[in-house]
Amino acid sequence: MINDPAILTGIVLNGTHGIYDVHTDDGVLRCTLRGKLKKAFAQANSGRPAEKFRSPHSSKISTSSQSLQKERIERRDSNENLLPIRLSVGDYVKIRRLDSTTGLIEEILPRQSELSRRDASSNAKKLVQQTLLANLDQVVIVLAAAQPEPHFGFLDRYLTICESAHLTSVICINKIDLPHNLDVDKDAELYQSLGYRVLLTSIETNQGIDELRALLKAHTSLFTGPSGVGKSSLVNSIEPGMALRTGLVSDVTGKGKHTTTGSQLYPLSGGGWLADSAGIRALAGWNIPPEELAWCFVEFRPYLGECFYADCAHLDEEGCAIIQAVSDSLIDERRYRSYQRIYTNEER
Ligand code: GDP
Ligand code: ZN
Repeated sequence: MINDPAILTGIVLNGTHGIYDVHTDDGVLRCTLRGKLKKAFAQANSGRPAEKFRSPHSSKISTSSQSLQKERIERRDSNENLLPIRLSVGDYVKIRRLDSTTGLIEEILPRQSELSRRDASSNAKKLVQQTLLANLDQVVIVLAAAQPEPHFGFLDRYLTICESAHLTSVICINKIDLPHNLDVDKDAELYQSLGYRVLLTSIETNQGIDELRALLKAHTSLFTGPSGVGKSSLVNSIEPGMALRTGLVSDVTGKGKHTTTGSQLYPLSGGGWLADSAGIRALAGWNIPPEELAWCFVEFRPYLGECFYADCAHLDEEGCAIIQAVSDSLIDERRYRSYQRIYTNEER
C-alpha cells in the first residue's frame, strides 16, 4: 500500500456534513470518510468526550512524588502527538483517489496541535470539546503602535492562550509609522527578551512586511488582535485579496461573518496556510485552568516548583518564588500584574 499511486497525502481545507475538500499535490479532491473511520469516530465520541486519545507511543505521565507543577511541565514538554477523535480542518490525511476530483479518506495522521472550544452542548457533567483547527502552529497577535493605543494586558492574555495550546506566537506591532509613545519600544524589547518574535510593521512604509511574509512560510497561521489594528491591511499586503476571503474584513464589526464552525484554510502563494477568522473568537473564549496559568508565563517557568507551598497560586503566599523574583526585578512587574489579573478573572 505504501507505493500505491492511488494513495495521496493531503491536508483538509474545509468540511461540512461529512464532505471534505482535501488539498494534495495533485490538486484539491472532494472526499468522504471511509466507513471504518466513521464507525471509529462514533465509538470514540460516545466514550469520554473531552479526552483526546493519546498515542500508544507517547511517554507515560509520571505519578511519582514530584510536585504537581513539575509534572505538568514535563507533560507539556513531552509534546505528545494527539490522535484525533474527529476529523477537523487542518488534519493531514491519507486518501485513496477515486477519480480526478474525488477521494476516500483512509487514515488521519496524528495531530501536532489543535485549537478547540467548548461545544454549545457542554454542561457541568459533560465537557464536549470541538476542534476548530488541527495543526495550527502559529498565531500572529497584532497590535497597533497607536490608533488604537496598544493594550499589553490583552497581549499577555493572548500569549498565555497560545502557550497553553502549544502555538508559537509572533507579536506584530503595526502602524509603527504613526507617532507613538516611546514606551511601546520598551515593551517590544521586553517581549523580545522573553524569547518572543516581535515585528514592527507598517503598511504605509512597508517596514517589516517581507519579514512577516517570510515568517508565514511553511506554517499554518492565524491572525488575531483588536479591531482596527490593521490585520486585514497586513494580510492584504502579504497576499492581495486574501483578507476578503478569510473573513478578516467583516471582523471589523467585531462579529465576524461566521456564525458556526466553518473553519477554512487558505494556501499562501509563498507556501504555508492562513486560517480564517472563525478561530479568533475561539481563542478569546479559551479557558486556562488556574493551576496551569503560571506555566503560560514563560519567564515564571524557572521558578515553578520552588515555592514553599506545592500548590502556590503565586498571589500573596509566603515563600513564593515568583513574588520573590518580582521583588528582585528578575520578573517584570507589569507582566506579574497581568498574571494576577488573568488568574483572578478565571477563578470567578
Ligand atoms: P483590522 O480591523 O485589524 O483588520 O484593521 P484594518 O486593516 O481594517 O485597518 C484599520 C485602519 O488602519 C485602516 O484605515 C487602515 O488603512 C489603517 N492602517 C492599517 N495598517 C496601517 C499602518 O501600518 N499604518 C497606518 N498609518 N495606518 C494603517
Ligand atoms: Zn508561588
